[in-house]
Amino acid sequence: MPHIPQRDATRPCWRALVLTLFPEMFPGPLGISLAGQARDAGIWSLDTIQIRDFGLGKHRQVDDTPAGGGAGMVLRADVLGPALDHARTQSPDAPLIYLSPRGTPLTQSLARDLAEGPGVTLLAGRFEGVDERVISAKGLKEISIGDYVLAGGELAAMVLIEACVRLLPGVVGAAESLANESFETGLLEHPQYTKPRTWIGRSIPDVLLSGDHKKVEAWRRKEAERLTADRRPDLLRPHGRPEK
Ligand code: SAM
Repeated sequence: MPHIPQRDATRPCWRALVLTLFPEMFPGPLGISLAGQARDAGIWSLDTIQIRDFGLGKHRQVDDTPAGGGAGMVLRADVLGPALDHARTQSPDAPLIYLSPRGTPLTQSLARDLAEGPGVTLLAGRFEGVDERVISAKGLKEISIGDYVLAGGELAAMVLIEACVRLLPGVVGAAESLANESFETGLLEHPQYTKPRTWIGRSIPDVLLSGDHKKVEAWRRKEAERLTADRRPDLLRPHGRPEK
């Protein structure tokens, strides 16, 4: 039976609020599957703020040319400031985050920390980014989803939200399916198999069909260590032991 996300009525709803020039991009993929069902169940909520509503003049201008010259446009501080102040009134306790390639890398442990809080208020940049003064004045924490540059922060916001939402209690079925995942143990996850037993001449490792849980556990641990050492040695501590 597939797991249906269920809300624990004693827990407050985790709140995601996104400031964006493209609110029509939301909920997008966050509206389907587990995240969508969890939102329908009231485990988390998603709202957007249209930055242009705070734009200047008849044309609701939100950007201008970079001070000092150069290519592109920069989102103005006197537009983002009031937009962020408005966001604060809607979600007073959530951390203010600016999705940015310059930010702290998003990791599983950062996602877990954010999932344990009241929610997140996310600023999705566009163009060349945002006026630096708004970052310091509003205490924005910068978070990056990887060492590459996207056209805007909306997809990065969705990545961050999904990484958090699946950690909220009641979203994913068995707790152990989260506990053994890549990065949770400091290792990449072991290989997974399912039926059929043999497929185009390739068989499931015998140990997984042995019914011996200790041996299965030992095999999985060894495979997780092998894969991590091979693909992501940076995840292993210098003295060779996986991080807890
Ligand atoms: N000029 C910026 C730079 O070189 O750092 C890049 C701006 S990018 C074209 C526009 C927006 O996309 C950024 O303001 C940010 O919100 C978002 N963005 C792009 N790459 C990102 C990444 N790796 N992680 C998080 N957000 C990203």
